[in-house]
Amino acid sequence: MTDTATNNRETLGFQAEVKQLLQLMIHSLYSNREIFLRELISNAADACDKLRFEALHNASLFENDSALNIRIGYDTAARTLTISDNGIGMSRDEVINNLGTIAKSGTREFFSRLSGDQQKDANLIGQFGVGFYSSFIVADRVTVTTRRAGEKADQGVHWESEGGGEFAIEMVEKAARGTTITLHLREGQDDLLDGTKIRSMIRKYSDHIVQPILMKKEEWVDQKLQVQDEEETVNQAFALWARPKNEITEEQYKEFYKHVGHDFQDPLAWAHARVEGYQEYTQLLYIPGRAPFDMWERDAKHGVKLYVRRVFIMDDATQLMPRYMRFVRGVVDSSNLPLNVSREILQESKDIEAIRTGCTKKVLGLLEDMSKNDKEKYTKFWGEFGRVLKEGIGEDSAHRERVAGLLRLASTHADTPEETVSLADYISRMKEGQDKIYYITAESFNAAKNSPHLEVFRKKGIEVLLLTERIDEWVVTNLQEFQGKQLASVAKGGLDLGKLEDEAEKQAQEKDAGEFKELTDKIKASLTGRVKEVRVTHRLTESPACLVADDNDMNANLARLLKAAGQKIPVSQPILEINPKHPVVLRIKVEEKKFDDWASVLFDQALLAEGGKLDDPASFVKRVNQLMLEMSGS
Ligand code: ADP
Repeated sequence: MTDTATNNRETLGFQAEVKQLLQLMIHSLYSNREIFLRELISNAADACDKLRFEALHNASLFENDSALNIRIGYDTAARTLTISDNGIGMSRDEVINNLGTIAKSGTREFFSRLSGDQQKDANLIGQFGVGFYSSFIVADRVTVTTRRAGEKADQGVHWESEGGGEFAIEMVEKAARGTTITLHLREGQDDLLDGTKIRSMIRKYSDHIVQPILMKKEEWVDQKLQVQDEEETVNQAFALWARPKNEITEEQYKEFYKHVGHDFQDPLAWAHARVEGYQEYTQLLYIPGRAPFDMWERDAKHGVKLYVRRVFIMDDATQLMPRYMRFVRGVVDSSNLPLNVSREILQESKDIEAIRTGCTKKVLGLLEDMSKNDKEKYTKFWGEFGRVLKEGIGEDSAHRERVAGLLRLASTHADTPEETVSLADYISRMKEGQDKIYYITAESFNAAKNSPHLEVFRKKGIEVLLLTERIDEWVVTNLQEFQGKQLASVAKGGLDLGKLEDEAEKQAQEKDAGEFKELTDKIKASLTGRVKEVRVTHRLTESPACLVADDNDMNANLARLLKAAGQKIPVSQPILEINPKHPVVLRIKVEEKKFDDWASVLFDQALLAEGGKLDDPASFVKRVNQLMLEMSGS
């Protein structure tokens, strides 16, 4: 980017993603066109908040005008709407960065996922948010004049674009600090040039904005509309969260969410409370309706804003919420913290810890409530954020049991991965004599559901949780028990069904172990280097063999995940368990000549059945073909 004589007009290209966003937005949000006003007012309010905050340390930024406000005007002759604020304003570099690029990590990847199918993509835009660029829904030319607070009058910046591929920028004089945005309306948008209409849009979408939104008074005189010089405040201009709950309507809560959450869709739920005591603060916390596109980015934004006695302090206050609740949006307004609190201070502050614990409990309570009283909503929540919440099992030991209570997991109790169960449901269905919560981890729902390890459980009608997300391995590593019941993998260690097996079954097993001792020894010798042990099992009813991990070894699914992620893992050999009732096992028992081939096939198919990969697939195929031919007598 060249930057020669400062007031030279320059034309620059939008970042490719901005072009795509503009296209997508104009087409998909046309029926929602009014949202542009909310987005622009929301930005103006943020700019005022930022100025107030910076002025805490440097009062000269107010330039003798500390009454922050937002002004809306319109001009029927020029067919323009203007939104202006006396907030922080932008420098030239900031204009180029903020209004020419999208500086969120993961943006490029997000856009590369768009399919080009407008209907589908339109749905995705909700994950992204629209902001300033939404002005192009109603305008075919937008100009921005801005000057950063504290800069000289000749440091104004003028930005202009028709929403195509480029924008023009030049330095101008601007006496008043802040930003003025002028929308040159598209053909057919003239109904927006109406004071009554604009006022009603402001009240509908932006009533909760803390700064006064001013418009010139209007009066009808002799059937002609007279616009006066005097101004009036159109919105309530009062911090929503500081008002008593019973004075706030559902609509107001929702609109406020769209402002703080930078979202244009409704939230799923919210909690609003004033907390008294050692730390006094107000919390207004929202669960969004859908996950933002960057939820999985390392530096994904946290969504809670910190205020101190109604003065905005910071966005993205990571310390206010644990990481596994990074989807929560909203406001915390503290009465005790000092106004000069910084990110560094927050990091070590005990006060913030108290607030974080309070907010965490509030959100857990909100979710518990939802899971009990509005199952449909909770299912939606789980679909969007379940994977994030699962991180809490490992991350938040203090609330592990409560987070575990919120888990929804696939299970053999249901037919599809979408029908999930809670651990409490599971416990309520436990069989008499069952003292463990059984689970299996696998790469997919089908691999889990059809795993040989489940055979005996199916036979006995015992439910098994089917865990197929990567994070599940982490969940079961950290969640040893729930409501006093141990979690147990069905693919690890010796099968101990405890009281679920009767004496007769136990005796039969001991007898089999004795009878098959010779065979298991022989197979072990044949598979040296591949198995740790070979033993008879009763977990199988249909399959001839399966692999299990030793109690202290890593299970096969986790080992595969780590390997795929490029991690070095200690090599541990599995235990091969064989089914003493299976014809194939009985056949091997009497095999002499081709014993090694049979043993090898037995091992390989057990590995395949649990979703493993063969070291030498070609040899497996060759052996199977040979054995097939032999059996058919050729
Ligand atoms: P978002 O608000 O989600 O960050 P926008 O596209 O709406 O995205 O705005 C991009 C950035 O431009 C804002 O983060 C802010 O830094 C800047 N900006 C927008 N409007 C204003 C304004 N009125 N005053 C100062 N800065 C603004």
